Amino acid sequence: MSALDSLPIAVIGAGPIGLAAAAHLHERGIACTVLEAGETAGAAVRQWGHVRVFSPWRYNIDPAARRILDGAGWVAPDLEALPTGAELVGEYLRPLAELPQLKPYVRYGARVEAIGRLGLDRLRTAGRDSTPFLIRLADGDELLARAVIDASGTWATPNVLGASGLPARGETNVASFLEHALPDVLGAARDRFAGRHTLVVGAGHSAANTLLSLAELAESTPGTEVTWAIRTASPARTYGGGDADALPARGALGSRLRAHVDAGRIRLLTGFSVHALTPTDGRVSVVVRHGDGGEESVTADRIVAATGFRPDHSIAAELRLDLDPIMGATRALAPLIDPNEHSCGTVPPHGVDELAHPEPGYYAVGMKSYGRAPTFLMATGYEQVRSVVAALAGDWAAARDVQLDLPETGVCNSNPADSAAGDSCCGPAPAAEPTARGLATGISGGLLSAPLNLIALDAAPTGGQAGGCCGS
Ligand SMILES: Cc1cc2nc3c(=O)[nH]c(=O)nc-3n(C[C@H](O)[C@H](O)[C@H](O)COP(=O)(O)OP(=O)(O)OC[C@H]3O[C@@H](n4cnc5c(N)ncnc54)[C@H](O)[C@@H]3O)c2cc1C
Repeated sequence: MSALDSLPIAVIGAGPIGLAAAAHLHERGIACTVLEAGETAGAAVRQWGHVRVFSPWRYNIDPAARRILDGAGWVAPDLEALPTGAELVGEYLRPLAELPQLKPYVRYGARVEAIGRLGLDRLRTAGRDSTPFLIRLADGDELLARAVIDASGTWATPNVLGASGLPARGETNVASFLEHALPDVLGAARDRFAGRHTLVVGAGHSAANTLLSLAELAESTPGTEVTWAIRTASPARTYGGGDADALPARGALGSRLRAHVDAGRIRLLTGFSVHALTPTDGRVSVVVRHGDGGEESVTADRIVAATGFRPDHSIAAELRLDLDPIMGATRALAPLIDPNEHSCGTVPPHGVDELAHPEPGYYAVGMKSYGRAPTFLMATGYEQVRSVVAALAGDWAAARDVQLDLPETGVCNSNPADSAAGDSCCGPAPAAEPTARGLATGISGGLLSAPLNLIALDAAPTGGQAGGCCGS
């Protein structure tokens, strides 16, 4: 037995995937410590608690977690029902974290600030794989671990508004006008939106959710105005598959949004790139650029940045990571989830082999493992941690026997509006949807594969920037 074997495995984050990892570790008899920055299980999910997910309960419960919960007399929810984020926490994640098998091992208020190898910086190789991980918390506390399963998600690191991936000019100066994705428009945040003009930026399902809530608010509160800005030339992908969508809740969301836009209750701006933001008389003025280089100014009271999320790998900066330069996922996983290649498509089952980094014993799993790809589902994360934990237990046969049982999507090419948009920007759209093993959550709604209007630089000649996203 090595010194490492006496140490626990550290799990970062008590969200759906971190807690699932803890459940699998418990079943394998491996000691673990779950480090959660928030004060409760599912701290990130709670922040979008008012949103109803579009995958039913049957895909949202980890099998190992279910076995332990069942053993404790847990009454499962209706497996066909669609929970809200709050229900996901209240009916599943919190009861799971409260189980005597897990509760003593979950530390709340424990934000991981940095991970390294005890006594070895990133350059040192000798003895690395037999050296404990050193985990430093924000309060200065440190602990040692045999391995690290990083399930810290991406919720805390949203994308910026600026179209170039850098903050738009002035973006950091107008923070008080900006809303994180998915504010509770009809609940706790109502006063910030009622009777005011809100600009929603983004083409994904989080944008769609917020727009529908704002449209509902506008019906009851005069003076509530809603503008929706997308970078693409068409909202077809946000509208989705309608009645043909394999996840009916997702299809219905898009159809309702389209009805509001068609009726003029939501003003739609297409081909829109945020260029600069300036506070103006208690409001915020947004300079936008169009594909033809023209500029326009929109003045709003609030801006909802529903532009997706990106992973924060900085806590693992002293570890040896091998990241795909585009996606920010491992190189092995990136092509399987790349929304530039797969407009909606399928995610094949994957596990420890696709998630491994050159740093032995460190695995990013869950939402974080997908980097910037918007195709993550809890069900794929549950299979990831089953596989990773099996490998950490030395059961390589189980670790490599990865499987997923998810509904077929069939949505990408089933929507006539989508077809009308033509080929994907980096090549022809696939002739037929491959047999589906997974499906896109659509948080970014296929944004990356829809044709974009490129904005012009000041010095660039006008008229030369209307190419697709692969244009130079
Ligand atoms: C609005 C919305 C709807 C979605 N709908 C679906 C759906 O229908 N079906 C589906 O399968 N998926 C859906 N997803 C995608 C995904 O399954 C969820 O985001 C899910 O919560 C991801 O789980 P996770 O455990 O990877 O990350 P998270 O749920 O984000 O959990 C990460 C946890 O880590 C903690 N943490 C973060 N940083 C640190 C740190 N440095 N130290 C310690 N703790 C830290 C956070 O507080 C958080 O509790 C949806 C996502 C969103 C945002």
